Amino acid sequence: MKVAIVGAGIGGLTVAALLEEQGHEVKIFEKNNSISEVSAGIGIGDNVLKKLGNHDLQKGIKNAGQNLTAMNVYDERGRELVSAKLKNNTLNVTLARQTLIDIIQSYVKSSSIYTNHLVTGLEQTNSKVTVHFSAQESEAFDLCIGADGIHSNVREAVGASTKLIYQGYTCFRGIVDDVNLKDEHVANEYWGAKGRVGVVPLLNNQAYWFITVPAKERDPKYQTFGKPHLQAYFNHFPNEVRQILDKQSETGILLNDIYDMKPLRTFVYGRTILLGDAAHATTPNMGQGAGQAMEDAIVLVNCLEAYDFDKALERYDKLRVKHTAKVIKRSRKIGKVAQKRNKLIVNVRNSIMKMMPNAYASSQATFLYKSKEK
Ligand SMILES: Cc1cc2nc3c(=O)[nH]c(=O)nc-3n(C[C@H](O)[C@H](O)[C@H](O)COP(=O)(O)OP(=O)(O)OC[C@H]3O[C@@H](n4cnc5c(N)ncnc54)[C@H](O)[C@@H]3O)c2cc1C
Repeated sequence: MKVAIVGAGIGGLTVAALLEEQGHEVKIFEKNNSISEVSAGIGIGDNVLKKLGNHDLQKGIKNAGQNLTAMNVYDERGRELVSAKLKNNTLNVTLARQTLIDIIQSYVKSSSIYTNHLVTGLEQTNSKVTVHFSAQESEAFDLCIGADGIHSNVREAVGASTKLIYQGYTCFRGIVDDVNLKDEHVANEYWGAKGRVGVVPLLNNQAYWFITVPAKERDPKYQTFGKPHLQAYFNHFPNEVRQILDKQSETGILLNDIYDMKPLRTFVYGRTILLGDAAHATTPNMGQGAGQAMEDAIVLVNCLEAYDFDKALERYDKLRVKHTAKVIKRSRKIGKVAQKRNKLIVNVRNSIMKMMPNAYASSQATFLYKSKEK
């Protein structure tokens, strides 16, 4: 089968690698002039690594990443609210985004990747889908996979009905070197009325951090916020936070407003399907956006192997739409609880969280394991 993949992000490259292994003819179209990721870290959950099974990609990610054994939440004075211990045989791996994308790309034939190819639209009949570009000749395929991210052109071209929903907070991120963390296998979050700070270990004494603050959409107040502003804003937070911000260089701080999507009813539109953020952009609160994109790829390829074309797409839709809608909703809810700004409400929330059994917190992600693979 001849397949067009729009977008060479984590989702597009994963599905390309797996489809090529099945013997399909794949072309990946990327609008940028290189395959690159932003300078931040990312966590890939155990649910995703288990679905990759014995595939080399799983080993590659595992070998390049730091393994987490627990995730703790503290208040802004460093008092523990929740400690979610990860089970012994689970692998929650953190790594630099660029490392992850390089690993996935290494499983894709370089001749299949077409950079500087901006996809502008498509047309479909019962037997083919024709992809249009801003600067190249149109080309026909048997299947088109829209893996072109949250602002997907493919989603728009097929007329999928959804909207992006701003979640009321914005996120700063960075990577720092030479850190001396309390435990290099434990990720910590600190929740306060001004915002939430996460510190996540990477290999080789590196760590990535994120700070989410309540904000207006494209809030001018934060557009000019640099290292000194963040240091001043969070100087009442525990040592670990202050240490990380001290280590951050003046440049290289990313800023993104946080959106998710009203869940779509279907990811399949004739011979075009949506995958990853194009299909189900979610907030980062569960650390599952990229993971779910990779799961989409695994499920799609399994279905194409197990069923005929129409049934495979139908099955992909059935397995992925409901599951990812649940991730969107659960993740959105966590954000709403975590981003409270009123001090009184923050105190009430923290008291409730302290009373919550840690086993309950650890069990909140078990549904992620329950989705089927074909
Ligand atoms: C602050 C933050 C923290 C996060 N942390 C995590 C985490 O810890 N774990 C996790 O699993 N997820 C996390 N995520 C989510 C994760 O980053 C995304 O879900 C993931 O990158 C989506 O991958 P994708 O391949 O679907 O889309 P993208 O990564 O957006 O890739 C889309 C690609 O398509 C290209 N493209 C776009 N339009 C076109 C076009 N018209 N023609 C050709 N090419 C096009 C783009 O250039 C890009 O390369 C986080 C997100 C944010 C914002």
